[in-house]
Amino acid sequence: MTFALHGIPVSKGIAIGKAVLISRAALEVSHHLVEPGKEEAEAQKLLEAFNHVRLELDQLRMGLPKDAPQEMSAFLDVHGMILADPALAEKPIKLIRTQRLNAAWALTTELNDLLEQFAEIEDPYLKERANDIRQVAERVIKALNLRREEIGGSDFLPPSDIGVKSIIVAHDIAPHDMLGFKEHAFTGFVTDLGGKASHTAIVARSMEIPAVVGVRHASEMIRHGDWLILDGERGIVVVAPDEQLLAEYRKLQTQVAKKARKLQQLKHAKTETLDRVDIELFANIELPEDAIQAVKLGAVGVGLFRSEFLFMNRKQALADEEQQYQEYRRVVDLMHGLPVNIRTIDVGADKALGAGGDVSQTGTSPLGLRAIRWSLTEPEIFLTQLRAILRASAHGQARIMIPMLAHAKEIDETFRLIEKAKQQLSHRGQSFNQNIQVGAMIEIPAAALVLPLFINRFDFLSIGTNDLIQYALAIDRADHAVAHLYDPFHPAILNLLASIIDQAKRANVPVAVCGEMAGDPALTKLLLAMGLTDFSMHFSQLLLVKREILQANVGILKARFPRVLKAYEPEAQAKALERLLA
Ligand code: PEP
Ligand code: MG
Repeated sequence: MTFALHGIPVSKGIAIGKAVLISRAALEVSHHLVEPGKEEAEAQKLLEAFNHVRLELDQLRMGLPKDAPQEMSAFLDVHGMILADPALAEKPIKLIRTQRLNAAWALTTELNDLLEQFAEIEDPYLKERANDIRQVAERVIKALNLRREEIGGSDFLPPSDIGVKSIIVAHDIAPHDMLGFKEHAFTGFVTDLGGKASHTAIVARSMEIPAVVGVRHASEMIRHGDWLILDGERGIVVVAPDEQLLAEYRKLQTQVAKKARKLQQLKHAKTETLDRVDIELFANIELPEDAIQAVKLGAVGVGLFRSEFLFMNRKQALADEEQQYQEYRRVVDLMHGLPVNIRTIDVGADKALGAGGDVSQTGTSPLGLRAIRWSLTEPEIFLTQLRAILRASAHGQARIMIPMLAHAKEIDETFRLIEKAKQQLSHRGQSFNQNIQVGAMIEIPAAALVLPLFINRFDFLSIGTNDLIQYALAIDRADHAVAHLYDPFHPAILNLLASIIDQAKRANVPVAVCGEMAGDPALTKLLLAMGLTDFSMHFSQLLLVKREILQANVGILKARFPRVLKAYEPEAQAKALERLLA
């Protein structure tokens, strides 16, 4: 039966494919395809795990003290019976053989099906058996000896033997897992959780793969192998579409691809407004190789290199100085002398470091131990990163960019450590740019309110609107429950942004926006009206934003903007915006 689910559209485009379900966190296991020819060995692994649990249960039963309550042995008997039922292993083995799912993935897929069936049973006794089945499956998974650190996006592979494109459906996807999908041919993403500015959404956009998040019960309502249409423009997921709908969406897909091809013609056009104001478009990147596309699409530098993606979810220790230096140098080399803002590690909140590695815990709250706060509590890790960036600066325009600063003493400590890193390199006789530029991200409202402190001490500023909005409006950017309140048009946000840009321009300190607002073509004219000339965004957005710039007249926009700023009532704001964009 065809039905539609609605969520938050976070990455445009239309995807058509079959659902690949990633099981819920309660039974988090690694998901990967076994190599062709190894299906039987994988099936054997599952059968051995069943045997292992059988022995385990026997031992438990024999070890029961004589006076143990009767329920204990009854409970073990029930588990023994569930395990002995050939049906529990039958379907997973079929999934291993036909779809090459790894054993744990196959078992959890079957488990989810069974739990769904049990959920519909009214009889309370039988309903309770669902828990027994889950416990038995958990024992089997344990026996499969899967460690948590095996979980990772890099293990994911599409079920290519289905012969059609696949769409990932998950309760939630961590940003580093999303990045792990980069090499694989998934054609779309659907998640129950997430907001527009979550890092998972940001990575999906950078991959130019349609994605809809915050679809609440998607992972419960969609089944493995269901046909899906994912409309990343409207936030709609159509499950089991009929032929007519499929044909319509295929037509739409062709039109979208045609438009994208047409946009490519703008690649070599000069980025200036109708009234000849030069605008600079920079790229945001997560991985060094993203720089290749950035250059191809005409970016004049990297405005934000989210260096933390080099550190997240690593199975071994953190990248050492040499490894980091090589990665930073690669970006610098790929950018051929153009500036590269290497943002120091911004972990914490929705970007956790991996379980492996010798690093201390980062905060999971957006108000916790994040970004520079964390780096300053880990001076050795911070110094290692600073030395690596400094060494890369000997080969091009590497610049240091610091996230989440708010306090003067954090700035003092940051500069003290930058000096120390320089001294360490000098002692070693290694070369670096003595005058390396250091910039601050303005992403905490407190920083925006004491901007002269930052203007006086830094070479450049970059506004992180994703966090600035989150903190100014007190909205967790990754929480779908408050996603509707995440509003770049809130008058407080517009006033904050206009004030930062204006103050920096007056002081002649370069200022850019590197949050998602900069890459949203619907907001380009608004930012131009504020006087912004440096935009940093995912390269996938570069040409869309450029098209807006080519059609804008900054003089007119600036003249009309004061009315927008003063419009606090929604109707007044809508009118002022309509006039601005007319
Ligand atoms: C921002 O906060 O706007 C930003 C660019 O940084 P991130 O999204 O990585 O927090
Ligand atoms: Mg930020």
